[in-house]
Amino acid sequence: MKLAYARGPPVAVFAGSWRCTSSPIDGVPIALGEPFGDCGVEVARLISIATTVRLAKQMGIKVYVSAELGEEGLDAAFAGGADGVLEELSFSRNEYVEGVKFVVLDGRDVADIVNTVRSLGERFRKPFDVLVATSYEFVPRFASLVDGVVITGGWVDVEVAPVEFIPEVGRCVHCGVDYLMYSGSLKRCIYCGRRLLRVVTATKTPRSRAVYRSVYKKFANITTLRFKIV
Ligand SMILES: [Zn+2]
Repeated sequence: MKLAYARGPPVAVFAGSWRCTSSPIDGVPIALGEPFGDCGVEVARLISIATTVRLAKQMGIKVYVSAELGEEGLDAAFAGGADGVLEELSFSRNEYVEGVKFVVLDGRDVADIVNTVRSLGERFRKPFDVLVATSYEFVPRFASLVDGVVITGGWVDVEVAPVEFIPEVGRCVHCGVDYLMYSGSLKRCIYCGRRLLRVVTATKTPRSRAVYRSVYKKFANITTLRFKIV
């Protein structure tokens, strides 16, 4: 079904190209309101996961997810820039266990978390990184205090809606403008003259974390996007 990104944050991250015949590459930002491809509607969930991870990353912390998301959910999380999967780390939960690299704390209360961390430091006298397992809505509370978070829920709402037509979409990464070519055809940005990148393609990149990571990095500094009809 031809779909547009209809409701959610101003910039989302696309994920789920494997469920599309044409779409952006996984990890590519899409603008609110923009038509993005021919996909199954279930890509909304994948876009939501990728977008939530990206928004958390923008707070300057490491972001992990749980294998409970399933294979597609994990791929979406990596498209959004996730740093890893909890179950693949050497970790213990709410306690320090000899040799672990990460201690994962559950909780919503900042004072509880930092006091627990200090007391584990006192008792064990070993280095470890602290991750807080929490819902996305509480991430801002912890972003300046701990090494990272494990997002356990609260995924941002993303809705997609059917559209009649998917135009060619050319992006100027420099200006943060997407040109939706309903009538005209452009090769270069009308503001800065740079070549436009094609956003919607039939290209399928391999479902590999390394590929997701490199695509994510390429677009990580795009925080605003607007589109222009040409
Ligand atoms: Zn430009």
